[in-house]
Amino acid sequence: MSFVFPKKRFVFRGVIVAKVAGKVVSNDGATVKVKMYDLSKPLTMTVAEFDERFAPYEPSPEVIADFDVVPISKSAIVKAAGAFPESSATVMEKMFDKSHMDAFMAAGNTKNCPIDKYDKLIAARATATTTATLESFSPQCNRRARNSAVIPADFDVVEFQKDPLPIGIDAHEFARKAEQNAIYKALITQLYGFQGAPPMTDALQTLLGLAEKPVAGTHICKYCCKPMEIEKVAQEYKAKVHYLNLCHDDPKRGTRADNLYWGHTTCNREQGGCSTFERVMQGLQLGARATFTEAEKAALWPLVNVLAASLQA
Ligand SMILES: [Zn+2]
Repeated sequence: MSFVFPKKRFVFRGVIVAKVAGKVVSNDGATVKVKMYDLSKPLTMTVAEFDERFAPYEPSPEVIADFDVVPISKSAIVKAAGAFPESSATVMEKMFDKSHMDAFMAAGNTKNCPIDKYDKLIAARATATTTATLESFSPQCNRRARNSAVIPADFDVVEFQKDPLPIGIDAHEFARKAEQNAIYKALITQLYGFQGAPPMTDALQTLLGLAEKPVAGTHICKYCCKPMEIEKVAQEYKAKVHYLNLCHDDPKRGTRADNLYWGHTTCNREQGGCSTFERVMQGLQLGARATFTEAEKAALWPLVNVLAASLQA
């Protein structure tokens, strides 16, 4: 098996090929099958087409180790979960979908072309109603696998677009395939810790590799320390107000299973781009120069005592 790298981005039979590692899975002298790191199906092309597009490449050990990781099957998870009780079925089904989407797919870079616009361009080209080329268009990616090519945070849009077919995701959205699987497992597990969640089946516990089943009511929003509730998620669909989203302990640590949790949307907004530690520092700095009423002091002392004990531990 040998690894290769695209000489530039290209579209091959409708598939956008980004600048990521590829692996030659077969080469019979006439036809080459090459599997790209961020695509699920191998591309099949002639040797001439292959030679024109790829150069030899030595990926990092991390990429080599991750290359053939198989994503956990959504249908296997759904099957193992079994039928949900009627009271929570709608929410559980939607949250299973959301867990899968958030674990495996990254939001597009804001400089990217929305995929519907991109699709319209493709359709227009097919009927020759436009002379615009894919190469002349903005970065293309709305939602793409988390193991896609990363656009550097400081990228120059004009320079970037000179590269044919600029696509990619933001660095903080990136996760290797093994990490995506870990995130998927963590999000499904957390869901069963919501207040009002149904009990987890034995089959799902086995599939997720959990020593213990999660206990409903134990999953809290780490920002406000209140339990997350299935009932409130249900209300969200009627109210059209987001109750929850995927939160980061420390946004700067990026998309990792041990850094992500289901928390309140409002809490997530308050946290902004700050880590938990930065928020604690801000709170203590504000507290150090404030004066308090007796009632406020009574509310603060238990927290101060817990903090003091944890600092001395
Ligand atoms: Zn919260």
